[in-house]
Amino acid sequence: MFRWLSLNEGGLSPAEHSIWRASALRTILVSGFMLEAIVAIVAMHSSLDAPAVGAYYVLWIAGVSCALLAIGLYYSQRRLNLSASILIATVYATAFSIVCFVREFEISKLGYLLIYATPIIARLFFGTRLALLLMACNAVPFFLLLRNQPIVNFPMTDITLPGTHSYIQSLLFLLFNICLPLSVFRALHALDTSLLRRRQTRTELETSHEQYQEIFQNAGSPILLCDSDSRILQANRLANTLLGRAEHQCDDGSSLFDWIALDGSIRFKQHVMDDVSNLPATAYRTRDGKMVALENISATSKDHYIVALRDVSGLHSMHDALQRSQERESFLHNHDRLTNLPNRDMLRLYLGDILAKTDDRHLIALVSFRVNSIRHANEKFGAYAGDVMIRRFAEDLTERLPQDCFCARLRSIVFSFVIEEVRDPADTLRTVEKIRDDLSREMDIDGARLMVQLSAGIALARKGDLEPDDLIRRSEVALDSARRSSGHGIALFDEGDALQIRRSVEVEVGIVSALKHREFRLVYQPKVKHDGSIAGLEALIRWQSPTLGAVTPGEFIQIAESAGLIREITNFVVDAACAQVRFWLDKYGTCPPVAINLSAVDIARHDLLHLIESSCAAHNITSEYLEFEITETGLIGNEALAIRHLDELKIRGFGIAIDDFGTGYSSLSKLSHFPARSIKIDRSFVAQIGYNQKSELIIKAIVSLARILSCTTVAEGVENIGQEDFLKAIGCEFFQGFLYYRPLEVRDIDSLLLA
Ligand code: C2E
Ligand code: MG
Ligand code: MG
Repeated sequence: MFRWLSLNEGGLSPAEHSIWRASALRTILVSGFMLEAIVAIVAMHSSLDAPAVGAYYVLWIAGVSCALLAIGLYYSQRRLNLSASILIATVYATAFSIVCFVREFEISKLGYLLIYATPIIARLFFGTRLALLLMACNAVPFFLLLRNQPIVNFPMTDITLPGTHSYIQSLLFLLFNICLPLSVFRALHALDTSLLRRRQTRTELETSHEQYQEIFQNAGSPILLCDSDSRILQANRLANTLLGRAEHQCDDGSSLFDWIALDGSIRFKQHVMDDVSNLPATAYRTRDGKMVALENISATSKDHYIVALRDVSGLHSMHDALQRSQERESFLHNHDRLTNLPNRDMLRLYLGDILAKTDDRHLIALVSFRVNSIRHANEKFGAYAGDVMIRRFAEDLTERLPQDCFCARLRSIVFSFVIEEVRDPADTLRTVEKIRDDLSREMDIDGARLMVQLSAGIALARKGDLEPDDLIRRSEVALDSARRSSGHGIALFDEGDALQIRRSVEVEVGIVSALKHREFRLVYQPKVKHDGSIAGLEALIRWQSPTLGAVTPGEFIQIAESAGLIREITNFVVDAACAQVRFWLDKYGTCPPVAINLSAVDIARHDLLHLIESSCAAHNITSEYLEFEITETGLIGNEALAIRHLDELKIRGFGIAIDDFGTGYSSLSKLSHFPARSIKIDRSFVAQIGYNQKSELIIKAIVSLARILSCTTVAEGVENIGQEDFLKAIGCEFFQGFLYYRPLEVRDIDSLLLA
């Protein structure tokens, strides 16, 4: 019963609130019900008297009160308000019954006291407002009482039952002494329980807050609690350190984006709505320069956000380094390592761009400078000096060019720059001359003074005229012709030059194929003595190309020299000449000495001796059958090496002749060092005999010189008797020329040797 009345609450939720109310209501109703029962028993005899005296209404009132209380009790938990309303109505009805139906005014007044209990009941179950209203309403019966005035007089209430007084007193006693106190006790008990619970909850809350703080502060990663406007509500130590915030700045209301910079307009809500894995892979910079990433953002139930930060400074610097190295790699891809200037590829791209951009009225000039003297620097002072020279030249050149001028290293010793919006080619020529004159003429490299010799080529193009590659090729053609010309060293592109260069390229390609397909052969031109007998033979190379036709050695030897193909040609000539000597020796038992022409490049070959000796050994011939002709110009610049190699050849018994003598301006002192056995007078002098006295004087001087140097003389290109007579008269010993023999095929030599 007690449990049914107390409805013990298990917590303090809104549901519990209704529990103590229902409990209080039940208490009142039950006690009220008991009241009715007790009153009925106590006043039994008066109730029984009521029908006897015709006061049936008393039975009605008691019955209705009991019924109302029973209904109220029935609804006490399910429909609390209805039940409470029934209670209040019952109290009013009871009071009204007493006031209206008890005839004796002094007794009926007691009914008013019942009414005064309603504000408390209303407060317990409906709140303050209704309680105040009832308190105000209760003022009406109070004033009636003050005036000692009954409310109504029902005509049938003239009978006063004998137990009425005790009945009403019991009613008041039970209501004020039992029902109301019990319900108030129940309410106060609920309040006590509530306070106790609250205290417990608070303690639990404090404990859990401390635990949360401990976890938050000591979490292994920087964590923030932010609101939806990204204001920082809380930050743990790691987060503060990472963001550079002091502890006291914790509640300054600043936004996370006040501490990290990128785009302060990012709102968390947006991130959280999106998939967190889609968080931008962005690194933000803190005020201290550290890099931070928003690793994770998760929403809390209170529209707050837990933001996990990550220090990505290390990662970022690695990323930076990687990016720098990628940039460097792409820079190196397009730039020259030595000078840091753009390379040929970059120049092509640039030219492609401006050739497409430029207007029809203007030209573009591509100027190429070649530093001719680098080869000399390399040979004399080593590759390091050459590198320094290239670097310094690149700096010197770029300093003298306008700021926005595009300058590239086209290839090893060629630098190109672009002049845009050219109106008059003559202006460009003047500009290039000025730049060339301004460039340093000398460089001091580790104490050595090096001359800077330059040539420049200029090629012009109009929009849509040429492809970048064509323009570059034209500037190189112009550069080549500038090198060949002895003029001012600057040349504008010329179509004739281009043809010549194209021919050179064709010949170069042809030589490679000729070596492979054995298209070369040797012819032999005899040298004769005064009596016309053969003193020796000169091996001369011939090339009948299937594509180019007959190409003269005068043309292809020079190309082979600059293309680095002369080695193979000389290997072939030496071997073929030795084989031929062997053939003639085998066939006729004798053979005149055969002269082989060596180019300047051959003289500098370190394996020259090896080549000659191994060839002689392979064909089993001795040195007396071979002679080597070196042009005078081939000796210049290579004197020391040439003298060493020639000395070696002389020691081994090979003959040495200086070819084309008179064209190379050799000094006497130099000449005296060459171990030459004979000197060949260049045919340009011989051709002048009879016409040019100066040439005749030169020939005489050469013959005397040869005599002083104990050399024999050979006159080249003798074509007529007049020349022969002159040469014989001045003491020239040997002759070679069309007057005697043209270069002959082997079979023709065969018939000569037979005779
Ligand atoms: P070189 O050594 O001075 O050869 C003599 C050149 O004069 C030959 O021309 C020959 O055909 C030509 N010649 C001879 N007699 C007369 C004449 O009476 N009148 C005229 N107008 N010319 C005459 P070729 O064969 O065309 O050779 C030209 C040059 O090519 C040679 O001049 C030589 O420097 C070089 N050369 C020829 N064969 C070889 C070779 O196997 N190796 C090397 N390195 N150079 C060679
Ligand atoms: Mg010769
Ligand atoms: Mg010659």
